[in-house]
Amino acid sequence: MNITQDKVVELDYKLTVNGEIVDQSEPGEPLVYLHGHSNIIPGLESALEGKAEGERFQVTVQPEEGYGPRDEDSIEDLSRDDFEDDIEVGETYYAQAEDGSVLPFTVINVDGDTVQVDFNHPLAGMVLEFDVTILSVRDATSEELEHGHAHSDDDDHNHDHG
Ligand SMILES: [Zn+2]
Repeated sequence: MNITQDKVVELDYKLTVNGEIVDQSEPGEPLVYLHGHSNIIPGLESALEGKAEGERFQVTVQPEEGYGPRDEDSIEDLSRDDFEDDIEVGETYYAQAEDGSVLPFTVINVDGDTVQVDFNHPLAGMVLEFDVTILSVRDATSEELEHGHAHSDDDDHNHDHG
């Protein structure tokens, strides 16, 4: 079976950035997603289109088709008083937006009372090299299509969906 709209795909992947592996699926814990529903980044989803079960391929994804370009306006100065805990440069923290969503950010510098933070995704602006092996392709269930994402066998199917 080939990957087309509304197929559920199981795959192993390795993500390399600047020659370093930054993310990969654990053995026996493949990534499962619903094709054609923007569950994964656009560049990877379009590379998977039409591929078949058992295929292995490499794809290079530019930032525009990945996590977007870096936005220098997303670098902001916060006050140390905004932090409850110790602050560590390079660590990821989470801010709550007005709509209740959670925004991760990275601390890039601490200078006295000023904490410089970066709200860019850590992979924004990066060229992503994926090494992908397609393990299985199947039709989505009507429930999965309704939810807009794949369910795995051990799901309780009672989860909340935002
Ligand atoms: Zn669901």
